[in-house]
Amino acid sequence: MSSHTYDYLDGNAAAGELSKIFAMDVTAAKGQCAHCGATKRFAEAHLYMLGPGVVARCAVCEHVLLRLVNVRQRVFLDVRGMTYLSLDAAQLEASSDLDA
Ligand SMILES: [Zn+2]
Repeated sequence: MSSHTYDYLDGNAAAGELSKIFAMDVTAAKGQCAHCGATKRFAEAHLYMLGPGVVARCAVCEHVLLRLVNVRQRVFLDVRGMTYLSLDAAQLEASSDLDA
């Protein structure tokens, strides 16, 4: 075990925050970690919701993939920890009945 003792959730816990920004379900997208190169579904990321926002870390190397912070009327999104995020365009058709 590592020295990390924080409890984390999986990336699905970010669905609410991310759905405010993206029309598509980012938790179903695949992202590549810019640190170790692992490509995984965002839902598999380790999500820390301890501060004023959300931090998602790579499930393999714990490098930060994404930070999202709400400051008054602005949302700051830092995704430099990911080389890319790959979304399924077919979702655009299916997401027309989002009533969550
Ligand atoms: Zn990684």
